[in-house]
Amino acid sequence: MTQIDKTKPILVTGANGYVASWLVKRLLEEGHTVHATVRNPQNEKKIGHLKNLEKQSKGTIKFFKTDLLQKDSFFKAMQGCELVYHTASPFITSVKNPQKELVEPAEKGTENVLHTAIETLSVKRVVVTSSCAAMYTDSIDTHNTPKGMLTEDIWNTTASLEYQPYSYSKTVAEKKAWEIAKMQSRWDLITINPSFVMGPFLNPTETTSESINFLKQLASGAMKSGIPKFGIGLVDVRDVAEAHLRAGMTPSAKGRHITSAHNTNLYEMAVALVEKYGNDYPLPQKALAKWLVVLLGPIMDSTFSRKTLRNNVNVDWKADNSKIKSELGIQFRSMKETMEDSFENLIVNKTI
Ligand code: NAP
Repeated sequence: MTQIDKTKPILVTGANGYVASWLVKRLLEEGHTVHATVRNPQNEKKIGHLKNLEKQSKGTIKFFKTDLLQKDSFFKAMQGCELVYHTASPFITSVKNPQKELVEPAEKGTENVLHTAIETLSVKRVVVTSSCAAMYTDSIDTHNTPKGMLTEDIWNTTASLEYQPYSYSKTVAEKKAWEIAKMQSRWDLITINPSFVMGPFLNPTETTSESINFLKQLASGAMKSGIPKFGIGLVDVRDVAEAHLRAGMTPSAKGRHITSAHNTNLYEMAVALVEKYGNDYPLPQKALAKWLVVLLGPIMDSTFSRKTLRNNVNVDWKADNSKIKSELGIQFRSMKETMEDSFENLIVNKTI
């Protein structure tokens, strides 16, 4: 049982990110002092939205310049913190050098932050933002499990540097986190493992998260002729932030947490937008046949190999989200609300 002193500062790494910004918002609303680490605290475009959130809430925010690859970079920011949220990690899929661009910042970053937590005597709990990607690579993997669905016991065994390196980076980073946590007994480690995150962006013009790219593609008409039933899990960013908050503050919280609201697919996600936006945007309205997608998909978009398409299109994505609902009391938003709020947010901010 870990009780956090709510008057102590709370560290959030990668605080300007899509997911982390919502976590910072919730922490500030609750009146906490947030130690926000970013690559460049001088970059107003990247952190201005966090300063505005501070003005509208009870809490306070202090920025620290850090580098995931630099040992001791997080030392100053962590001083006096009992609770550490480590969210910073690249979420990009188009990379030239996966080892340098994905694995090193994910794994070394985790190592640097968690070793600093060992050296910082105030720390009592570390919450790491992992991913369902640390549990599976392709939807078919979710079936090849003892219960026929992802549970907190499952680890990704199919991603590699060559095949889906983002998933690989999240797997090695989370493994590293558990390895380091076992070296000591002062703090406990909790992981939040979200599936694909959607929902409004607090800084949409500067977001580089892959989450925004899917919405931009839908709005552009690139998939007007149809979209595959590519199996995926979906969760709202506001629910992911709440899950982080509760994982940090609930004394009995333990272990990994699948944070996924809906076992769904890309077609269902797109269709959830049609009623409200179908007349104004060239949204896909029909599902593409699997044979066609497997045949032509890799030619039209080189990020999807035939193997990926075979293992995901018309393959249900299955995960058990009962732990986070029962242990942290998370109630997930509907898919319609998540999709509509995401799209509306991009329209209002003229991002699509
Ligand atoms: P994001 O907006 O791109 O946020 C990533 C954060 O990590 C940013 O603050 C970014 O800083 C920082 N970062 C990335 N590479 C870095 C590097 N080499 N050195 C220092 N900082 C670096 O993406 P997000 O979607 O919010 O992702 C946040 C976390 O959630 C990640 O751990 C991701 O794996 C996890 N996650 C995301 C999803 C999803 O669907 N979005 C699903 C599951 C898990 P800059 O802004 O300076 O680049």
